Amino acid sequence: MAKRTVAVGKVNIGNSTVSIQSMTNTKTDDIDATIAQINRLSEAGCQLVRCSVPDEKSAIALKEIIKNVTVPIIADIHFSHKLAIMSADAGVSKIRINPGNIGGVDKAKYLADYLKERKIALRIGVNGGSLDAAHKSKPLAVAMRDSALEYVSVLEKCNFYDIVISAKSSNVKVMIDTYRLLDKACEYPLHLGVTEAGLYHTGIVKSSIGIGSLLCDGIGDTIRVSLSDDPIKEVEAAKDILKACDKYDKPYCEIISCPTCARTNIEVKALAEQVEEMCKDIDKQLKVAVMGCVVNGIGESQGANLGVAGGKDKSAIFVDSKYVETVDNSLILPTLRKYILEY
Ligand code: SF4
Repeated sequence: MAKRTVAVGKVNIGNSTVSIQSMTNTKTDDIDATIAQINRLSEAGCQLVRCSVPDEKSAIALKEIIKNVTVPIIADIHFSHKLAIMSADAGVSKIRINPGNIGGVDKAKYLADYLKERKIALRIGVNGGSLDAAHKSKPLAVAMRDSALEYVSVLEKCNFYDIVISAKSSNVKVMIDTYRLLDKACEYPLHLGVTEAGLYHTGIVKSSIGIGSLLCDGIGDTIRVSLSDDPIKEVEAAKDILKACDKYDKPYCEIISCPTCARTNIEVKALAEQVEEMCKDIDKQLKVAVMGCVVNGIGESQGANLGVAGGKDKSAIFVDSKYVETVDNSLILPTLRKYILEY
């Protein structure tokens, strides 16, 4: 369903590009460490950063943090609408609440009125583990959708519409089902994520399936990959998911490489890594292939704009699936770069 656009500072969520979010894991009241991590996240490509606000010291710290960063900051609030108010006063661009623990409808309404006056967006972050008793007998995806929509209607009664919705689950199937239901049911932008996704490898697999499936269906307006790891890795993974789903909004060189087999003549993995590194500064939308043999290399890399098919000492360079020249293996990298820049 077409979505509303919700402004979160300088980032618009909904009906445009899919924005990348992450979350700090410093203590928010450690102002220097939090600023440093937000700036690292921003340099890595993160467009929105969320900070936990577990206490008043953290809410107060947000003011100084916001002065020293360039990305919009989101306050993550549980249990206390007072901390949400304090975070709004500190200048955050969005507040994330879990409606199941914010303290009831009256507090949610009070918060909505407060945020509306200040043009601060609100994310309703429904969590399968803290649903109202009224929804608990339903299938989990339906219960999460209904719980989110119930709070949407509370906010709409306050004429508050700057709403983003998330309904994360650690179960990928439940997460996908819930977002599909939400997408059909409402016009608010959706923040996608698999929660408690786990350690690096498992977390990326789960997030790629969950977030990626939805993005490929055209569902989702902003994403967060959750990993028990350095949040910079979340941003890198989010970028890769967007690229794989054709949702990345900047030109880049995609490196494809063959899986290698008994015909492989060159160190495909090492060369592909070097080509990837070499292409980092090239803002052209190109597909570059690193293939291990000349027997199948050119044929198997259909769709690549150019690439190399490895031979024992010399390798074939090809452009648009056509052989163009043979180079000594020591010259593969500079030759590929030349053809990439010329393309
Ligand atoms: S391109 Fe060549 S080396 Fe690579 S997997 Fe295919 S046949 Fe094997």
